[in-house]
Amino acid sequence: MKIYNFASSSSGNCYLARFNNRINVLLECGIGINLIVKKLLELNLTLNDISFCTISHDHKDHALSKKDLIKRGVKVIESDYLAGDILVNAIPVNHGNAKCNAYTFNIDNERLLFATDFINFINKEDLKKILTTPFNKIMIECNYSDELLEKIEDWSKIRRQKNTHLSLNGCITYLKNMNLNKCNEIFLMHLSDALSDELQMQSLVYSTTRIPTRVCLKKGGFK
Ligand SMILES: [Zn+2]
Ligand SMILES: [Zn+2]
Repeated sequence: MKIYNFASSSSGNCYLARFNNRINVLLECGIGINLIVKKLLELNLTLNDISFCTISHDHKDHALSKKDLIKRGVKVIESDYLAGDILVNAIPVNHGNAKCNAYTFNIDNERLLFATDFINFINKEDLKKILTTPFNKIMIECNYSDELLEKIEDWSKIRRQKNTHLSLNGCITYLKNMNLNKCNEIFLMHLSDALSDELQMQSLVYSTTRIPTRVCLKKGGFK
C-alpha cells in the first residue's frame, strides 16, 4: 500500500491510496478537477485509473470535485462499499453538525484507516473496532496544537475548533490506545494554517509511537 498527498488543509484535501500496486483509490476530492488530473499525471495516472473516490463529508475542502468526478465516470463512495477484493467500511464520526465518515480499507488483510474532520467516533462498537484493528497505515487528522489554541482570544473560534477538529493531543490519545503492532506509517492530515506546528506534531507523534510519521503538507507531499 502506498499513500500520496495531493493537498491537505482547510483549503482542500485530496489523497491517493494505491493498494497491491494496481488499485488506485482517491480519498477526498476537495480540490479542483484540473488539479486532481494534474497530480495524477505526475504519477503517470489518469482518472481512468481510479477505481473509486471516497468522500468523508460534503464540505467543499473535501468534496469540491464530486460532481466533476461523477461526470467523468469516477464512482464516488460515501458509505460502505465492496469492490472486488477491497472492502470499504464507513464509520460515522462527530464533526459539528456535518454528517461525516471515517473509512477503513481492507484488501488481502492490508488495512488502512482514514479519519479526518472529527473529534470522536459516534458508536462505541466502532471505537472498539478502530482501537483493536491492526492497521498497516493510519491517516489521521492532527488539526491544531492545544497550546496554540489556548493563546487565541476568540472564544467562538475556540469552541468551534474543539467541536469539529482533532487536536494533536486528541490524535496522540487515539494512537496510544490503538493496536499499532502492524502499523508502519502514520500520516498527519488537515493541519490548521495558524494553529499547528508541523515539526512539533511530527516529533511528538513519532516519539510516542516510534512509527515513521509523515506530515501531509498543504499543497501536497510530505514533511
Ligand atoms: Zn476539512
Ligand atoms: Zn469539514
